[in-house]
Order: sequence, then structure tokens, then C-alpha cells
Amino acid sequence: PQAEIRTTLSLLHEEIGSSRGPALGFVRSRVEQMSREWIQAGLRMKQSSNNTASPQMKVLLYPGVLAGPAGQRFGSMVERGGPLGELVQWADLSACLTILGHNLTLSTSRDHLHSLIGAAPGGGSCPIQRPLPFDLIYTDYHGLAHLQGAMGLTFQHYQCRFRILDSFGTEPAFNMGSYARSHGYRTLWGSWGLQPLQYMTMFPHTPDNSLMGFAVRQGVRTEGRKHNVAVVYGKQQYMWQGMADYIQVLSNEMEVHATVYQPPGGSAPLPPNVTNHGLLAQDHFHRLLHRAKVFVGLGFPYEGPAPIEALALGCVFLQPSLTPPNSSSFYRGKPTTREVSSQHPYAEHFVGKPYVWTVDASNLTAVRQSIRDIKLTQVKPFTPREFTCAGMLERLQAYITHQVSQDQYNQWNTHDTQHLKRPPVSRLHHLITLLINHIPSGPFSRLGLSCSAREQEVNHLFPAYSPWGRRCGLQAEPLLFSCAGSDPQLRRLCPCRTHLPGQVALSPHGL
Ligand code: UDP
Repeated sequence: PQAEIRTTLSLLHEEIGSSRGPALGFVRSRVEQMSREWIQAGLRMKQSSNNTASPQMKVLLYPGVLAGPAGQRFGSMVERGGPLGELVQWADLSACLTILGHNLTLSTSRDHLHSLIGAAPGGGSCPIQRPLPFDLIYTDYHGLAHLQGAMGLTFQHYQCRFRILDSFGTEPAFNMGSYARSHGYRTLWGSWGLQPLQYMTMFPHTPDNSLMGFAVRQGVRTEGRKHNVAVVYGKQQYMWQGMADYIQVLSNEMEVHATVYQPPGGSAPLPPNVTNHGLLAQDHFHRLLHRAKVFVGLGFPYEGPAPIEALALGCVFLQPSLTPPNSSSFYRGKPTTREVSSQHPYAEHFVGKPYVWTVDASNLTAVRQSIRDIKLTQVKPFTPREFTCAGMLERLQAYITHQVSQDQYNQWNTHDTQHLKRPPVSRLHHLITLLINHIPSGPFSRLGLSCSAREQEVNHLFPAYSPWGRRCGLQAEPLLFSCAGSDPQLRRLCPCRTHLPGQVALSPHGL
């Protein structure tokens, strides 16, 4: 059957209604709070003419991070200021797929997973492999390992059905096991050898991965805003360390509010003149943002959803820059070499002023001036299309329709090789490398580059041009085509890619 857009989330409410624990409680309440937005976006999509039908999918959602003892630890942190970004994504993904008309099963236990997809016990040590009863499985890195355990030999066979929620992304050099092992890119997480597009990120990083994103609430009233109210972004006390002077400057200019977790019976010592509400339920947190003029980053956590929510609620976002860009210990061990130039590079580069102000937090004069300027700046609630319900529906619909099999991946990613450019090494955002190798005349001559030597190599930085020896390198390994990573000796070659305004993942040419 075809997937028909639904105008109710009742099936999803049934699916998650009885689930227990703080993590699923957060997911449930987010789905409830946003259900009106999802339904309205679904209705609009149903009415619009470019709503393309896709087959109805049987989808398994398996957030491995919530399964087993590790899951209990993660769950217990939900109410103590632990990370919530992934749960935001699971909630929004489940609502989005339900509206798109697919059939969802949610599981957060390994035993349940096994009963859903496990190999049937056969004679002795030889279990009988069953066909996979799901067309698509959304999981995370923890879940991949559980799936491998449950599926046995069929794991490899059904790999193309997996989609991995992977907030910060996986670069191809870490993804391809043999390359990662021999070139020092081995981490706890990578090495699964999936198509890079199967990793779905929280923000658009390299175009090698797919943007899953999330959705924020729209259309809220803007009156009643207090021009001197600041809310500080930092749920846990350690995030405030070293920021006392910055907060002091802020509290000289504005009324400062915080939502820092307070242990039972204790209190979180914060700088003077800060009103701490404790960790708030999400709707209360949004109400606080709604009253505020500015949401103030402390430099950590990186790349979370809260700043996008704050912009949608009409706040300005002020955040520290990181100069020089760094990857800090936070990204160590994660399958990426990306370096961040501020706490929230997406807010900095894709949104910017007047909504987002990025300052050197150690330059207190600049901080003071920014706060004064922000107080005088009027902004309306702002959300890039990709972070609205409509934008997420449109994007997921496109993924489900086009990212079905390996072949379709490749077709879908037919890039505009007519418009090759040599990007400056630091500006690789909107560019993708895939078909560059296949330009009949060779990509280098088209760019007016003369090669003294040509080589085809398994190197995650290829295709690339080395100006010194005038060496031209083509990529020999399909899994390594990528625009991620850089080397001062090399000019990377990446095809340009056009995208819809505010929807980086989708091209205007009907994908
Ligand atoms: N949040 C909340 N209560 C609070 C502060 C934040 O429910 O007191 C929510 C916020 O609405 C956002 C989520 O926490 O959707 C994740 O926020 P953050 O950007 O801090 O990302 P994280 O580091 O938790 O992944």
C-alpha cells in the first residue's frame, strides 16, 4: 500500500503511551506538546500538489542508547541535566514518520528486539535466519551492535535498511573499517562500512551524511517579552566553569535566569545575581525562553537543539567563539575530524546576525557591547525551514522515497558536475564529492589544472590537487568519496551542489 499522510498521531500515542522511564517520558511529552504543529504541517503537505506518494514502510525505531543497563544510566541522567538532544530527535522522528503514514514499532529493549527480528532458534548452534520484517530500521551506534547480535548472518545482508542517528556525524575515513584501522581513524564508534548517507546527523555537517535534524515549535506570540531578560544555556553546573566574568558582564546589563539541575536537598552554586529555576520540564523551559530577549551560550554543550528553539521563540542567541577552531576532548573518540569555530557553528554560519551573535567571551568589552547592541535589536521568531515540522516532513519524505537501495543512493546523488569549483579549504559546507572522478575529460583539466602526475589512490582526501608537485589524485575507493577533512598540502575537489533555501539536504531539481 501507499503511505497516506495522517492527520492524527493517535497510533504513535498508543505505541509510546505505556512506555516507562524518564527518557521515554520526555519523548512522550514532547510528542504531545508538538502534536498540533505536526498535524497542521501534515494537513498542509496533504493539500500541496508536490506531495509525492511513497510505499508505506514498516519501520522499527530502536534507540539502542535506551536499552540495557547503559540505557538505565542514560535515562536516569534525563532528570539530572544529562543530554536530551538525541531524545528530541527520536521524538520528532517518530512523529514525522507517523504523519507520513508509515507503520512504526518502537523498541527499547534487547529482548524485545530479539523477539522482533532475532534469528529463530534452530538445531544446535545453527539458528534459522528469518527474513527481516521491517523495511527500515532507525537506530544508533549502540543499537547497531545490538542488531548485529540479534540478526547474526542476516545483519550484513540487510545493512542497506539501517539508518543511524548520529548527532555529530561519521566521516568516511572512520566508517570504512580497513581504512580506519590502517590510517589511525579507528574509534569506538566507526568502522561499520555503511553508506555515509545512512548516518543521520542533528545539524548539516558534511554533505556526506544525511541531515536528520529535528523540529521546533512555530507561531508563538511575541508580546510580553522582557527586553532585559537573559536565559543562560547550561543545564549542568560544570558548563559554567571559567565563565564567571562573562556572566558578571551579562548580569550588569540584564536580569539573568538559569535552568541548572539542582540535586535533591542541595543547590547548584552559581554566580551572584542569577535566578536558577532548576532543570525545567520542556514546556516550562520554552515558556521561560518566550519571556526572554536573549539566550546565552557558555561555550558548551556543542551543537544542541536548544539555540534553535530559542530563535523560534523570538530570542537572540549570544555564544562564545572558539578561536582557533578546535575539536576539544569532546569530539575525541567520535568518528569525525570536524573542528568547531563556536559553540554552535550552524547558528553562527547558517543563521548569523541579527539572530546569532558570536563573540570572544574573554574580551569582556566586546561581550558588553554585544549585549547592549542585542538589547537594541528587534528580531522576529526565526526558524530555518529545515527545522520546522513542514521542513522535516519534506526531508524525511524525500529520504524514504529515494534512499531505498544502494543503487538509488548513487542515482539520487547525481551532482552538478557542470559547475565544478575549487573551494577554499575552510569552506566545504555546501559541497559534495562523488561523481567527480567520472567526468570523462577528467576533473583537473576542466578546472584548468595541469597535472605532472596522475594517481588513483585509496585516500580519504582524494580527489585532490597538490599544487607543489602538480600531482592530481583521483579516488579509488567508492566508500571514501567525501568532502570531509583537509590537508594543507592538498586542494580538495568537490562538486558544487545547489539546495532549497533553508533546506540544505534537498536540491531544487526535485531532488
Ligand atoms: N531543556 C529542557 N529543560 C531545561 C533546559 C533544556 O527540557 O531546563 C531541553 C531543551 O528544550 C532542548 C533539550 O533540552 O530541546 C536539549 O537541549 P540542549 O541544546 O541542551 O542539548 P543537549 O546537550 O541536551 O543534547
